[in-house]
Amino acid sequence: MNPERSSVGPDQIIGILGGGQLGRMLALAGARLGLRCQVYAPEPESPAFDVVRRITEADYSDEVALARFAEDVDIVTYEFENVPDNAARFLSSRLTVRPGARALTVSQDRVVEKTFARDCGLDVPDFEPVDDEADLERALARLGRPAVLKTRRFGYDGKGQAVIRMGDDPAAAYAAIGRQPAILEAFVPFEREISVLTVRGADGEVRHYDPVENVHRGGILRTSIVPAQIPAATTIAAVRMGRVLAEALDYVGVLAVELFVTADGRLLVNEMAPRVHNSGHWTEAACHCSQFENHMRAVAGLPLGSTERHADAVMQNLIGADVEAWRAIAAEDGAVLHLYGKRDQRDGRKMGHVTRLKTLSRG
Ligand code: AMP
Repeated sequence: MNPERSSVGPDQIIGILGGGQLGRMLALAGARLGLRCQVYAPEPESPAFDVVRRITEADYSDEVALARFAEDVDIVTYEFENVPDNAARFLSSRLTVRPGARALTVSQDRVVEKTFARDCGLDVPDFEPVDDEADLERALARLGRPAVLKTRRFGYDGKGQAVIRMGDDPAAAYAAIGRQPAILEAFVPFEREISVLTVRGADGEVRHYDPVENVHRGGILRTSIVPAQIPAATTIAAVRMGRVLAEALDYVGVLAVELFVTADGRLLVNEMAPRVHNSGHWTEAACHCSQFENHMRAVAGLPLGSTERHADAVMQNLIGADVEAWRAIAAEDGAVLHLYGKRDQRDGRKMGHVTRLKTLSRG
């Protein structure tokens, strides 16, 4: 008998692609359920390596390492959406990958993503694909200024984006994002940004967490506040949008959808992430079952846990030097501190987060 397979409980080994803080928190949540995790990541200093029994330190293009990983684990998930095509295809041909390939294809490319959401009947910012400067001029003429130019792929935390305002030179903006295939979006004068986290089980059951309000600075999420200050009808609409997308993708796991709320109460899909999400970190402190545990439950084919919230919460990211306050935060009543164990502190680097709990205002 394989000594790895002797536990009472969900006796599975979950492979996680990506070794950042999200992979680390997934593995920790999996461990609470008795799931074993093996993390695959190319970076030797991956924060997730510290909390699992087995690691694969290899490049995503290394087919020998991928093949061994596929033999070691029962099922694969990931903590980032930019899983290289070759690795996703290679692993999918050998074992189950959850969420499935469709979720990756849709979320890796902003044009495909917005087209998909629109085809699902959801509102999105008006947009045009841009492949060269002539496209950009035409798109600007139709969408007007200001407009937001973004790379189609590999954008995160506001990277690969440029706002084009009156008087700005479009060619300079296109150069600033590296003259790559891009999308031009109409600028949305939103009142607030919210996100909704939906979890869909392997059996198709769908649950959601309460929508959360997000504050970004310099393109990076700083604070998430729950409940979001939105009318009940907007909450219902946001939750429905999450469900529509999860079902259309035949999704298994946690799906994060970021939305703009306009002054007249419209909801527009900004982007989706086929994974656990920074705007859901509060769930580990304020919900019966966190986004991390529910993702692992869905991936392992277990029953979903309750997404009910037992407290109001404000989650603050500890970015760069913010983390130096960790000792004071650790001593604070009502503060739930989570540090990622990263060795090097750098400007803009997510080092940890703290969730401050408050009395529940609304169920
Ligand atoms: P993204 O990487 O697409 O999430 O964009 C990062 C941030 O830029 C968002 O959270 C918004 O604050 C802002 N942003 C992105 N797209 C638009 C848009 N079309 N109109 C206005 N602001 C935007």
